[in-house]
Amino acid sequence: MGPRPQVARSIVALNRALRRLRRSGKIALVPTMGALHKGHLALIRQARRRAPRVIVSIFVNPTQFAPNEDFASYPRTFERDLAAAASLEVDLVWAPTAEVMYPRGFATRIVPEGAATAGLEDKVRPHFFAGVATVVAKLFTQCQPDIALFGEKDFQQLKVVTRMARDLDLPLKVIGAPTVRERDGLAMSSRNVYLSPEERQTAPVLYRAMKETAKRLKAGEEFETAVSAGRELITHAGFVVDYFEARHAETLAPIASVKDGPVRILVAAKLGKTRLIDNVGV
Ligand code: AMP
Repeated sequence: MGPRPQVARSIVALNRALRRLRRSGKIALVPTMGALHKGHLALIRQARRRAPRVIVSIFVNPTQFAPNEDFASYPRTFERDLAAAASLEVDLVWAPTAEVMYPRGFATRIVPEGAATAGLEDKVRPHFFAGVATVVAKLFTQCQPDIALFGEKDFQQLKVVTRMARDLDLPLKVIGAPTVRERDGLAMSSRNVYLSPEERQTAPVLYRAMKETAKRLKAGEEFETAVSAGRELITHAGFVVDYFEARHAETLAPIASVKDGPVRILVAAKLGKTRLIDNVGV
């Protein structure tokens, strides 16, 4: 295990740490909401390979949760996260308080369009991407990284953040990393701890259903028939489906045929109280 990483909780402390880190070259940022799991750790390892200095931000962003969502109960495991960051030799953990991120009088929001209005996560969580875009833009300006890593697990978010950085001429490169899964296919997620033992057994059906639809599409089955088959699989397993769709992998626009692709299958569904999201390429 490496030394405990330096932790900055105020802008002054962050800037002081940044001055030091900058001297050793490029900085990679991995934004997270904490409760770190192997998916996050893979992002951090990739950051390590790409830059001599790595910052991990830990901030459970209140503005991307709706009042009926799980902000209050979202898992918070700060000490364990620090130990994980230390074991991967993270240079700095940026962990601002809500008051530092959104001081009294805060009145600016970035409202993304394009992929952010594709009718997927945004359909169910209308304020989500403005919350994400605003906080990520702030994290980018605060940390001034050369690169930032995001997981494909949150595929629409990856597209939104990539586009925002380009549109606002933010001088960094956004890099997407593949989804890390449990052995049975369930995508790692901080929210998996909400699943009861029975739900945990059922949860991998999400991945299996997407793979089934991908297989059918590749085999040339009629588009909507293949998509419906996947949707029915998860409904039958007990999920309440928010969406299960095959979209254009870049724009996330609806398509009617594999020929209109590249195709990405994206799903969000609730199992009991837990909402899971995932996606695969075709
Ligand atoms: P979160 O803490 O859930 O906001 O996630 C922080 C970052 O980790 C985001 O870029 C996520 O897409 C990414 N991430 C979350 N779960 C996984 C996973 N299973 N595999 C790869 N990246 C992930």
